[in-house]
Amino acid sequence: MTDRIMNPTATFHPRHTNEPPIQIKARKTRQEYTRRGLLGEGGFAKCYAVVDLKGNLCAAKVVSKESLSKSPKNKPKLLSEIKIHKLMEHPNIVRFHEAFEDDAFVYLILEYCPNKTLLEMNKFRKRLTEPEVRYFLCQILDACRYMHRTCVIHRDLKLANLLLSEDMKVKIGDFGLATQLQDASERKKTICGTPNYIAPEVLFDKTGHSYEVDIWSVGVIVYTLLFGKPPFQTKGSVEDIYRKIKEHKYDFPSNINVSSEAKDLINYMLTQQPEDRPTIDQVLNHPFFKGFTPTQLPTSALRIKPDFE
Ligand code: ADP
Repeated sequence: MTDRIMNPTATFHPRHTNEPPIQIKARKTRQEYTRRGLLGEGGFAKCYAVVDLKGNLCAAKVVSKESLSKSPKNKPKLLSEIKIHKLMEHPNIVRFHEAFEDDAFVYLILEYCPNKTLLEMNKFRKRLTEPEVRYFLCQILDACRYMHRTCVIHRDLKLANLLLSEDMKVKIGDFGLATQLQDASERKKTICGTPNYIAPEVLFDKTGHSYEVDIWSVGVIVYTLLFGKPPFQTKGSVEDIYRKIKEHKYDFPSNINVSSEAKDLINYMLTQQPEDRPTIDQVLNHPFFKGFTPTQLPTSALRIKPDFE
């Protein structure tokens, strides 16, 4: 499929560039989708709810070819996102159904996640409880273990990329910055990620980075879920955030009641040296996980603190 994507000889009609058609057709698989409402907008994609011929709801991530042509890096980036996301088959990773194009757009048909992301949930609730954090963290780490075993580093784990399914399970999405290593010793040197979540070695280690960057970002996620703001956030510029990451400057607000086990786990995951950072199994064996972990969460938890009594 990906070899067809962005065929330079395809006709290009500028009048199509604003909105994708209501009827979206994948010529090769003969699937047809009816476009419904806009779900969200990212860097250069718009995401719509779509319905297939059997009446199943899916999400369509739509990228206009016009926006792709703005930088020579955009096409290879999208092709890499498709190639890697297509490989992923895990209950906590957004399922990739198919990718195709017409003259004006590239479409990625994905599993539909109706409950938005952990970013919206955390914003509304301000902070989550420790049992909820354990519930989400187990799922995130399980998906990370799967990605890393497939030699994939996500490199952009953050609340906005943790979608929520109808039954409140985490689904990791957006493989736009992911990379697949050729062998375990390979080091990546591209500086990428989202400022608040970037591991120090991505910014400051000229020898490169590897799987440990995802553990760092999950540490930032745990801190943010429990304290309501990312650990290195500042009112200043991106450079100020990078300086705080370099100097390992973060603290635990004393007015927020978080257990010493949770703080210790965050410190462990935010270890400055990637080689000293815990593995996924070491994280799961941490005393923080001795506390109660629910096996499911009601959708009411999006708005109201659940009562686990
Ligand atoms: P970009 O790669 O351009 O950042 P994203 O993949 O992050 O685009 O998608 C943009 C927004 O669309 C997300 O923040 C989310 O609100 C929504 N979205 C993305 N994928 C899905 C999905 N599978 N189900 C429901 N909403 C989604």
